[in-house]
Amino acid sequence: MIDKETRESGEVSRSDEEDKNNYEKYCFLCRRPESKAGKMIELPNNIHICTECMQKSFDTMNHSFGNGSLNYMDLMNMPNVSMVDLNSLGQSTPKAQKIKKKKKEEKKEPALDLKKIPAPHKIKAQLDEYVIGQEYAKKVMSVAVYNHYKRVATDTMDEIEIEKSNMLMIGPTGSGKTYLVKTLARLLDVPLAIADATSLTEAGYIGDDIESVVSKLLAAAGNDVEKAEHGIIFIDEIDKIAKKKNTNQRDVSGEAVQQGMLKLLEGSEIEVPVGANSKNAMVPLVTVNTRNILFICGGAFPDLENIIKERLNKQASIGFMADLKDKYDNDPTLLEKVTVEDLRTFGMIPEFLGRMPIIFTLGGLNRDMLVRILHEPKNAILKQYQKLLALDEVKLEFDEGALEAIADKALEKKTGARALRSILEHYMLDIMYEIPKDDSIGEVIITKEYINGNGGPRILLRGQQFPLLQ
Ligand code: ADP
Repeated sequence: MIDKETRESGEVSRSDEEDKNNYEKYCFLCRRPESKAGKMIELPNNIHICTECMQKSFDTMNHSFGNGSLNYMDLMNMPNVSMVDLNSLGQSTPKAQKIKKKKKEEKKEPALDLKKIPAPHKIKAQLDEYVIGQEYAKKVMSVAVYNHYKRVATDTMDEIEIEKSNMLMIGPTGSGKTYLVKTLARLLDVPLAIADATSLTEAGYIGDDIESVVSKLLAAAGNDVEKAEHGIIFIDEIDKIAKKKNTNQRDVSGEAVQQGMLKLLEGSEIEVPVGANSKNAMVPLVTVNTRNILFICGGAFPDLENIIKERLNKQASIGFMADLKDKYDNDPTLLEKVTVEDLRTFGMIPEFLGRMPIIFTLGGLNRDMLVRILHEPKNAILKQYQKLLALDEVKLEFDEGALEAIADKALEKKTGARALRSILEHYMLDIMYEIPKDDSIGEVIITKEYINGNGGPRILLRGQQFPLLQ
């Protein structure tokens, strides 16, 4: 009879074995993976050495011992020389630095089956469940993503090469740029890496070097290179790497970063460190091809409206089209009229813009949209609070006036929908603190007066129809 423990340990060792088979071996000396360095020689304690390094070590030893300059005993007796104990080296690699093997058998069928990629209208319908408004942005993104993955799945790289659908989204802060990308990646079940352009610098300078974004993506894909190669990289605050005007210094965090991004955007083989942000001798490297990685850049581009206005005014003041000078001053759709030329004037270099074929804008959020954001999305903040209180068997309601009052407060902060959560958290703190104290409370209604500071919430006791006056 096999007792439970043996069975369990049997299972563990089997899964250990599977685990081993799933990861690439890499040379302990030169850190190259088996796929690059060739067959490995196995030493005790999970240490592997590639044949090349092994040969080199033998050659060096032969050379030293052979010409009489050194013998083994000399070496042992020398002060400060100790032989490396292989046991002490065992398991020196954390799991985060293991590289998942590319699965050969699965390569026959593409990871993303063309039939499985939902049509653009279906992608948009799913986005609608989470993202309020921004209809145009959702439409553009759905089509772009659909085309991108269709291109990846069919690997159309013959004569008619389908261009990569990298996107540049322009919209005020808190309008849902990051949220759209996050939602999209989740719906498509692809890994996503989010990086801030302000933290990137040209390689060799203080800051993250540009290729670190690919390293982040690899981590998000659980070190699975194949998965990472189908992922999405979102680079936020892209407007902060605009070319600096009138500087004499080297622009290591602006134009140089744009230059550095070019080859990533277009598609190239990048050697990335596994499980670390920078390359060094102790980190294994792996090659990731960025050809099928979808890059989405986002930024608020302050002042871009003035550039657009200036261009339009210049056009309008010429010839027949002469128009009123202040025609565009209060135009709410001004940003939508952006052209590549305007972005160049802003400081983005033409080569960079050329690799971003899809450029679109997101509108600022108005009061109605903010109210809808509070309660409509599938994971709306209000729904989250309602669920939390429901666990205490307390019903939570907001009257319409309260939602509008919260939206008004958020508008004042000028940070878009981002302000909603902090405002709500502020008002919900007391409720979340007081309610669990009293078992008899059955329902709480948040009122406009409570939000505006001239009243309290309405509280109903269990089984009671009418609120207690506060
Ligand atoms: P940014 O445009 O600055 O990247 P975010 O996408 O980070 O803004 O938005 C901040 C938060 O606001 C998101 O996490 C999301 O909860 C909410 N939000 C913003 N815009 C929308 C929207 N259109 N629909 C639903 N929620 C939104």
